[in-house]
Amino acid sequence: MSAALDLPPEPSRDHTLDACFLGPYGENDTLLEKLLVEFLRDHVYWRRNFHPEDPPAIATSAASHPDYLAFESRMRRELHQLSAALKKSVPFHSPRYIGHMASDLLLPGLAAQMLTLPYNPNNVSEDAAPVTVDLEVQAGLQLARMLGYPHDPARPDCAFGHLTSGGTVANYQALRLALALKAFPVALRAAQVPDLVLPEDDWSAFNLSPAASIALLEQWQHWLAALAPPVRAQWRAWVEAERIEQRGLAGFFAAHPQLRLPRVLAPITAHYSWSKGVKLLGLGRDNLELLPTRDMRLDADALAERLHRLARAREPVLLCVAVLGGTEYGTIDPVHEVLKAREVSRAQGLDFAVHVDAAWGGYLATVFRREDGSLRPREEVAADYTHFPAPHVHAAFAALGDTDSVTVDPHKLGYLPYGSGAFVCRDHRAMALLAERADYVFHGATPADYLARYRSLGQYIPEGSKPGATAAAVYVTHKVLPLDHAHFGRLPRATLQAAEAFHARARQCADELAGCVHVLVPFAPDSNLVCLALNPHGNRDVATATAFVRALHDELRCDVHQPLQVKEFFGSVTSLRPDVLGQAQTRRILDALGLDAHTLDGGEDHLLILRHTLMNPYLIDHENGISYIDRYFDHLARRLRALAAAR
Ligand SMILES: *Cc1c(COP(=O)(O)O)cnc(C)c1O
Repeated sequence: MSAALDLPPEPSRDHTLDACFLGPYGENDTLLEKLLVEFLRDHVYWRRNFHPEDPPAIATSAASHPDYLAFESRMRRELHQLSAALKKSVPFHSPRYIGHMASDLLLPGLAAQMLTLPYNPNNVSEDAAPVTVDLEVQAGLQLARMLGYPHDPARPDCAFGHLTSGGTVANYQALRLALALKAFPVALRAAQVPDLVLPEDDWSAFNLSPAASIALLEQWQHWLAALAPPVRAQWRAWVEAERIEQRGLAGFFAAHPQLRLPRVLAPITAHYSWSKGVKLLGLGRDNLELLPTRDMRLDADALAERLHRLARAREPVLLCVAVLGGTEYGTIDPVHEVLKAREVSRAQGLDFAVHVDAAWGGYLATVFRREDGSLRPREEVAADYTHFPAPHVHAAFAALGDTDSVTVDPHKLGYLPYGSGAFVCRDHRAMALLAERADYVFHGATPADYLARYRSLGQYIPEGSKPGATAAAVYVTHKVLPLDHAHFGRLPRATLQAAEAFHARARQCADELAGCVHVLVPFAPDSNLVCLALNPHGNRDVATATAFVRALHDELRCDVHQPLQVKEFFGSVTSLRPDVLGQAQTRRILDALGLDAHTLDGGEDHLLILRHTLMNPYLIDHENGISYIDRYFDHLARRLRALAAAR
């Protein structure tokens, strides 16, 4: 057992977070129960007050009819079985769970979602969601503010964000929007629209900056508006006929032999949703180019060099992805350097969109944001931590406002239920290119007013029908905990501090186990994911080390055949692939672990390592003076000794 912690004096404790979650023990059960009962009753009153003159359609005596009772008992039986089965669920809420990107749920969001469910709004359009569709658009603006995008709908270039089922679909939306924006100037040229200043050839039309494409789109809309209705319809149809959305990739590129399918550039650490995205869009995986990393972060020099060569070869680029919080190692790509590389490339005639995949790390931006929306300098942020934020981490977050679009997952570091990702673009005007017409759902001309326009949400998003309850959860959470360092930011702060404590404890563990098991944090964490590489002392073979880690991980993961309580802790694994790490880093890590690099030569071989997501807010339990991090390492040391001895 760990000794009690040396706790900071009581006044520094943060009691505002005490009401945030149901809690590991269900401490806030009465709070949640009160909220649920109150709002369920409220919903029933709403039904009764709709047309109180309508008599009840279900007889008051119905509840004693045998058929009613039989139905009720069947329902109860199934629900009891479900409830019993769910006890085998993963205990995400527990500070003993440090596996994947999930934790406890924020009460304001959980309550808002449960409260909204019986109203069942469908955010496809305002006809089916008069209230929650606005909340979704507002949630997009809240996220835009957190990221440093323009977020005042009165501004013509205001950002726009909407929710998706998750980061995967948000990333897909980024690809769709970038392609629409890139190909549109080419369509204007093909339709030979007069009076507009169009690029002189297809290559330059395909390489306008996102801002220049948006400006051209605006000019086209103004030009169109000035025409008489029949001529306007004719011109619209002519341009429409040339658009990539109309012609398809095959037709569009056949019509423009000067152009080739554009590539998507992403670091090799990028999430597999990018592979799904290029397949879905029809670009194919051949056009997803994975760039090398340096210490698991996108190598900006390699990117610059690649862009230079692509510009010379006239190979277009659709989008460059920077990852803000890698799924496997939590590393932060140098967003600022990607933007710089684009500046250079722009001067060489090669332009593209910059998208930040912040599905994991997006909410970390709250730590960098003041209440007035301005950016906190690095020294101010750093006062709360031992190492965080590294200069490149601060620079990456500071640069977010200059990117074109961002993916953020409220269902990850937003602590909200699944089914909640978000796509945010810097300038909403580009969205007009994604608009779909379905007259039975959307009617009338596109309103000029920002909020009114996006009430036809379904026109712009990849999905159709979608839950308004999710939007309510995200919006209410951001209202209760505004997305700045003094409010929401307290949560990521706790997790970043936990990650620093974890990292320090890992080094101590390495000393304690010297001569028994090599323990190594393969690279200093940028955020709140920390990995551990392990190898029993004396072993030189990578496959043996991997088998050792796999045996350990079998103890650290869910097993439906065993009672949950048998498990002490939950962790996850990932692998160190030489193709991702590069030769020098692979060599450094293998040497430190006492492994022989020659044993890697199997092609498929890679080294399995433990991965820990430190997002639970109660990892350090101040109430009882317990550190679950210390307890985890005590447990780990015991198991490592036993597994090493059993070899
Ligand atoms: C989780 C994640 C995704 C995918 O998001 P889902 O919500 O699982 O669809 C994409 N990119 C990154 C960096 C992620 O961490």
